[in-house]
Amino acid sequence: MPETRTYHGQCHCGAVRYTATTDLGSLMDCNCSRCRRLGWVMQSVPAENFELLSGADKLVDYRFNTKAIQHLFCRDCGIESFARGQDREGRELVMINVNALDDAPAVDRATIMHWNGAEA
Ligand SMILES: [Zn+2]
Repeated sequence: MPETRTYHGQCHCGAVRYTATTDLGSLMDCNCSRCRRLGWVMQSVPAENFELLSGADKLVDYRFNTKAIQHLFCRDCGIESFARGQDREGRELVMINVNALDDAPAVDRATIMHWNGAEA
C-alpha cells in the first residue's frame, strides 16, 4: 500500500487549489455518461482529509441523474478537479481527480477499479 501523505491539487488555471491526505490506494474510474467524457481517475477521501485552499467563488456545481454528487468545475478553465458526495452511510466525502494533482505518482492503470456507473 502506498504511504499516506498530503497531495496538492488544482484546476488548470490555478484558481481552485486544495490539499487532500490519502494513500491513493483505491483509484477508480467510471463509465457513466459524464465520467466517460471526462476521462478522470478518482480517489475517494473523507471530507475531513480535504481542504479547499482557494477558488470557492470560482466553482460551478453541476448535477445530473440522482443529483447526489456535486460535480464542481472551475468557471474560468472548466476543469473538474474534485467532486463532493456521500458514502452509503451518509458520510461526506470528496472524490479528487488524481489527474489534477501536482505531485501524484504516475497512475498505474492496471490497479484502477472500474466502477460500472453506466448501469449503477
Ligand atoms: Zn481554473
